[in-house]
Formats: sequence, structure tokens, C-alpha cells
Amino acid sequence: MKTNAIIPYGLHEIDEGDIQAVVDILRSGTITQGQAVEDFGQALADYVGAKYGVAVSNGTAALHLSVAALNIGSGDEVITTPMTFCATSNSVLYQGGKIKFVDIDEKTLNIDPQLIEDKITSKTKAIMPVDFRGHPANMPAIKAIANKYNLKIIEDGAQSLGSSYCDGGKEYFCGNGAHSDLAISSFHPVKHITTGEGGVVFTDNRDLYEKLSLLRKHGIDRSENMFDEASRKGSWIYDMLELGFNYRITDFQAALGISQLAKIGRFKKRRREIVNFYNENFKNIAELILPYEGENVDSNFHLYTLQVRDNQRFDRYDLFSFLQKNNYAPMVHYIPVHLLSYYRQAFGFKPGDFPVAENYYERTISIPLYPSLSDVMVEKVVNDILKFVN
Ligand SMILES: *Cc1c(COP(=O)(O)O)cnc(C)c1O
Repeated sequence: MKTNAIIPYGLHEIDEGDIQAVVDILRSGTITQGQAVEDFGQALADYVGAKYGVAVSNGTAALHLSVAALNIGSGDEVITTPMTFCATSNSVLYQGGKIKFVDIDEKTLNIDPQLIEDKITSKTKAIMPVDFRGHPANMPAIKAIANKYNLKIIEDGAQSLGSSYCDGGKEYFCGNGAHSDLAISSFHPVKHITTGEGGVVFTDNRDLYEKLSLLRKHGIDRSENMFDEASRKGSWIYDMLELGFNYRITDFQAALGISQLAKIGRFKKRRREIVNFYNENFKNIAELILPYEGENVDSNFHLYTLQVRDNQRFDRYDLFSFLQKNNYAPMVHYIPVHLLSYYRQAFGFKPGDFPVAENYYERTISIPLYPSLSDVMVEKVVNDILKFVN
């Protein structure tokens, strides 16, 4: 790495095998709607332990298809967290649904299950937990609430491919169908594996799988058994059964995804090595709060988020500026969604509505964490931050 290159908070890793997989598809003649897309979806489903995986054009499309597949629309309410990327709640708004935010747990930084029941009304259709930072939401607790009130669950696992948690002595990977009706992931370059742009919806439910597949391609069906003999004579025959979308992913992206998925174990292992080194070096700095990991959780560590405690010497802004001046590109995840202008203006949200999320936002900074970050660079990050705090 060039010494003056900017060090980002996250970065994809592409090797020659990935490139070859893409080139092979480009030479094959079928670059979209081919076998690689179906293979990628199934490989992902097998990996997380879901029955079906529908690969789509991006994570936001995956969320939108999930909301549409559950027939969530005008008048329906969906409960989610404000500590997420805005695509989570936007997907409900696309279909005319209404968002009810619930504050986060200050340790996990995910939706606080204890606050959910208060927000449930006769219009509530679904809960959308987010596995923020790759740390699984408390899915078993959320599932219990959903069962009690007959609600659906869409797990936004855009950041948590490869993360797992234990419940009742059994290990579950994020995206599995045991605790959700639908779950999604994203393959944007900062996520755990990448296809450039890409996403997937997981489900164990055959009807939902078929509906997702239909909605991914405009709601159009060409299967022969749909038509009577007379209309089947013309092989051009198709019908549109639902108002769908074009959310297809290409075969060369899917081939890249299959190649990336084979490396997910190494990616995850390297992230944890870096996290352990950071934790070891930062644990005695009184001003910093290290990222939390629950006892029953094995996180993929999508982000390394430090929090700066109230102190006399520096705040989060000072640390951010220091890193920026020293050729880093740190980031802040996230400005709580309810404080974004659109949400304030459209729905009247204001500061103070979700104090735990807002308090966390004021303190947090994401520092470099990605598999290709070398030992030398990891030490440099540590030395620079120690220089700053001392
Ligand atoms: C990245 C992300 C999305 C959106 O995924 P895209 O593939 O970028 O559309 C949605 N939710 C969360 C929590 C994300 O991190």
C-alpha cells in the first residue's frame, strides 16, 4: 500500500479467482437470467441454513421485495430500529406502509425487544430487526413477540452474513428461517462479501419463495401450466400476475458472489483477529467504550465501532478529525434515521424521540476493519489512536 493512500473504514477484497469467475460468465453467452443466479441464491441459503435464497440486484431491493411479498401496504405499520441505514425503513414507505421506530438496547445497539410490545397496535403487520454492525438482533425474543401478536418478521441482515447466535443450545446463522419469515443480506462492497451491487432474500416458506421470484421479474409468469391449450400454441405466451419489479442480478455478479462466498470463513477469521488486537490495545483507555459482543453471539464484525465517553480531554469529533488529518477515512454509523430531514418533515420526528440511539450516535466512530488490512496497517491504526489519546 502506498504510504499516502487513504485508509478507509471498510473495503472489499477481490482476487484473481473472483476475476476469472466473472470473465468465464462474460464469455459464456448468458450474462443474465441464467443458472449462476439460481446457484448463488441456493449456495447462500445452504450457507445460512435457510430453504430458499432469491438473489436480487441489491439489498434495498431485497428489503422492498420482502415488504411487497408480505402484502404490507397502506395503513399497515412496521416496527424497526432508528439505528440503521435508511434503506431499512424506506422499504416500508415504498409500499405505502407506516414506520414505528423502537429505541435500541445500549449494549447490543440493536432494537430493544423489551420496548417493542408498547408500539404494537391493531395495524402492526411486521417487525424488522436489523443486525447492526453484524451483531445479531435478539431474534429468539423478537420471534416470541411476533408469535404472541401474530406478526411477521423481516430480518435486515445486510451486515450480518456469517454471524451466528446460540438459542437453546443450537447455533443459528443470521438469515436462517427459524426466527424470521424473510431475511435479507447485501453484497455492496463494504459488506461481508461483494458482488458490486447485490442482495438476497432468504425464506423457508415455499409460497413466499415463489412470490419473491415472481416479483423479482415484473410479476411475469411464463410457466406452461398456466395456460390452456389454445393460448399455449404460441410459445411467446406469458402473463403478468402481480405488479412486480426488475430486481434481477446479473450472472456475472452471481458468479463473483459464488467465488466470494467460498472465502467467507477466512474473511470472518481475519476480521476477528483484527478486532482482538484492537480490543487488547484499547481496553485500558478509560475514554473509550469497545464494541460489545453478546455471550451467545459469534459476530462477523461488519464494523469496529468505538464510543467516546464524556471526558474533559476529547470527544468523538476530535478523534474523527485527528484520523481524517492523518489519512484515514473513518465513518459514523449511523445518523439515526428519524433525524434525517425527510423523516422529520414527513412524520414529525424530532431529537429526543429515541434517546438511546441518539446518545450512541453522538459518541460513535467506525475505524478501519476489513480482511485485507495487514498486520502493519493494524499496528499503525493502534499507534495513531494511542498517540491521539495520550
Ligand atoms: C447496506 C445496507 C442496506 C442496503 O443494502 P444495499 O445493497 O446497499 O442496497 C440495508 N440495510 C442495512 C442495515 C445496510 O447496512
